[in-house]
Amino acid sequence: MTLPTVEALTARAAELFALWRVRDASIEVAWNRRLRTCAGRAFVQHGRVELNPNLLEPAPEEIDGVLVHEAAHVAAWRLFGAAAEAHGRHWRALMRLAGLPPEVTHDLAIPARRPRRGRFAYLRVCDSCGDRRVMAALRYGRCHGCSRRDSYLVLRAPATAAGRAALGRVTLADARARCDAIMERR
Ligand SMILES: [Zn+2]
Ligand SMILES: [Zn+2]
Repeated sequence: MTLPTVEALTARAAELFALWRVRDASIEVAWNRRLRTCAGRAFVQHGRVELNPNLLEPAPEEIDGVLVHEAAHVAAWRLFGAAAEAHGRHWRALMRLAGLPPEVTHDLAIPARRPRRGRFAYLRVCDSCGDRRVMAALRYGRCHGCSRRDSYLVLRAPATAAGRAALGRVTLADARARCDAIMERR
């Protein structure tokens, strides 16, 4: 399958920014073949989104969701500034506005065949204190470890024994490596 052009992706991102009422709607979208573990990433201060063609070519139905996810990071930065946690409530609100479930942040591996709806297991790791839970249904309450509610990294896998085992092996460092919102420090 041919991947959508950068122009088409940029137009879609501009549409999202209009929906989210982001005044500065400039955005650069690019395919990056060097990306490995993450389906996409966002350089929020530069307003740049990169998508991973290696993972998305075999799963074209995921492209729009990944684009919305990454564009929402840039939008959250522009609307709410550095205080907005990467996958915190501001970001989740933008995902909901775009009509997407806000809870899925990163698939452990984009499954070749999607399990039936709801047949997923989730690993929720707190980016602040490392507290981790494997859940059948994802909840965002206060972290049991540090009481924060906006620093979760979430990975999803099929709710099979293998999927759960894979989630169990993910370390905080792994989860961070898949986290895609990059705040450039200068
Ligand atoms: Zn915590
Ligand atoms: Zn993200």
